[in-house]
Amino acid sequence: MEGERVTSRRSRRRGYPRGAARPAPYAAGVDEIAYTVRRSPRARTVRVSVDPHAGVEVVLPERAHSRQAAAAVAELRPWIERRLGEAAAVRAAVAQRGRTVPFLGTSLELVAQPGRTRVHRRAGSLLVPAHDARSALERWYRRTARVEIASRLDAATRAVGTTYAGLTIRGQRTRWASCSPTGMMSFNWRLLLAPEPILQYVVWHEVCHLEVLDHSPRYWALLADRWPEYREHAAWLRRHGATLVL
Ligand SMILES: [Zn+2]
Repeated sequence: MEGERVTSRRSRRRGYPRGAARPAPYAAGVDEIAYTVRRSPRARTVRVSVDPHAGVEVVLPERAHSRQAAAAVAELRPWIERRLGEAAAVRAAVAQRGRTVPFLGTSLELVAQPGRTRVHRRAGSLLVPAHDARSALERWYRRTARVEIASRLDAATRAVGTTYAGLTIRGQRTRWASCSPTGMMSFNWRLLLAPEPILQYVVWHEVCHLEVLDHSPRYWALLADRWPEYREHAAWLRRHGATLVL
């Protein structure tokens, strides 16, 4: 089912304890939030999800009263409205790109070519398949992320005399990067959709974890020494992270 697939991929769920439902203070009105209801034999609590494309969905346990859906939406209204606002901003930002994609602070123009299956970069253009370009485009970003991120990790660790064990490229929506206690690095390919200094900040953030694993004052002091603009770059990611999608 498409709705479910999209929901599980693209949104975070918020649990809502079954017994905690209470009547909605504003059950009707022009400013009501539109939502769909689905019943699930597996659901143990009322769950609400917000998807940028599918909208708001409430999942009810089989025996729950349908009023609990409205109560959950009322209860979670501030969170739902925040998520809907973010979703609208993401759609607007993505729509504004037209036939281009962001790449480390520049824009690459998409040029569709019939018969092409693999994306190829030519100067400021990306030659893409005429049909279903999106998945091929993501594969290109993943391949390119490995090269762009490995070279920056190599340079940063060389500069401070540390080493890392390896690099994995991932695509989670909630995590930009991580560094394991054994020095395994994991980076999100979507960082290539951000300006270059943002990627550099995340590289230095993880390289500092090779020496201090936690986020203790000692860690922040180390990061401030090596990437002084870390505060504003972290703020940029919090503010614009959701727009880093194809
Ligand atoms: Zn960290």
